[in-house]
Amino acid sequence: MQDMKEYRKLNFSSGPAQLPMEVLEEIRDDLINYKGSGMSIMEMSHRYSWYSDVHQEVIQRLKTLLDINEDKYEVILMQGGARAQFSMVPLNIANRRRKGAYILSGVWSEEAYNEALALDSGYILAGEIGNYEGIPDYNLEDIRKDTSYIHFTSNNTISGTQYKNFPKTDLPIVADMTSDLLSKKVNVDNFGLIYAAAQKNAGIAGVTIVIINKELLNKKNNLPASLNYFEHIKNSSMLSTPPTFSIYVLNLMTKWIENMGGLNTIEKINLQKAKLIYDYIDNSSLFYTGLAAQNDRSTMNITFKLPTKELEKLFLDEAEKMNIIGVNGHYLLGGCRVSNYNGITKDDINKMVLFMKEFKEINSDKR
Ligand code: PMP
Repeated sequence: MQDMKEYRKLNFSSGPAQLPMEVLEEIRDDLINYKGSGMSIMEMSHRYSWYSDVHQEVIQRLKTLLDINEDKYEVILMQGGARAQFSMVPLNIANRRRKGAYILSGVWSEEAYNEALALDSGYILAGEIGNYEGIPDYNLEDIRKDTSYIHFTSNNTISGTQYKNFPKTDLPIVADMTSDLLSKKVNVDNFGLIYAAAQKNAGIAGVTIVIINKELLNKKNNLPASLNYFEHIKNSSMLSTPPTFSIYVLNLMTKWIENMGGLNTIEKINLQKAKLIYDYIDNSSLFYTGLAAQNDRSTMNITFKLPTKELEKLFLDEAEKMNIIGVNGHYLLGGCRVSNYNGITKDDINKMVLFMKEFKEINSDKR
């Protein structure tokens, strides 16, 4: 049999994203006969202990990895993608009476704001639609009296910017961490609510992690059960049949992170990988130019452009010939983007840098 690693592409997609080989191999080994059950985990009732053990285990692992205070926070596993949270957050936290203050730092934060606005539950605290090169400044004094939370997108997947810190306020901070949760240490105590779809650093699409401060839960919010955090918690994230396979993969990813040495180690590795690419871009005599403001650069999504559109197209075509895929920028922004999630190894990044160097050597006269 051909070595699996030989024909695998180098996949720098912004998500769904490349998984660690160790995780893929475990999935392969478990796939048809999960732990001797005679079934795949995809096929079995979510009430069977093989699955329910996984369900409990992953919630516990998330609590341990993120050092979550169980007295203060609940962890929920949900469906509907991160996007479902764009409406669940205002519905549950602002509850049609108050408002969320939104910081527009990228396309996804804009989408989150639009949902809150449609529910008459959001206003823009800072940022300007379409201007996402850097992280906008915000002034906490501009917060309105009827505000019940401040919404941030911690990592802007499309433009490639990332928050390094969050403000200290009396108001709960809600953060969409879809593209950086589990890529680094986070102090959960600083947040009222964190949500993240899994398909970047935490596994595959289909499950969204929600971490919520119990003080934000309201039993009498008159919301339909499926849109009500309280009901999901009451039913131990099994209000609907859970996305069992996605949760199983999330469990393998959290186990993999533990085996790697936990989030501090993962953070160091991700920073080192990002630095390799950014350093090369910055020393490429402007053949490659970073698209994000220097101080706000993301460790997760590295965005850059080439001197001309023609060179960019050639770059992407040549990359594909070398089995390097997913490097095209988002269609709204253009340019190129290397996503540097947990499943990308240092070796993968070294190969990318080598490809960028060789491409520049061959093509720099075409500028
Ligand atoms: N927020 C961020 C920061 C994202 O990057 C994405 C997806 N790329 C989303 C939200 C939307 O996630 P989903 O597709 O799971 O709804």
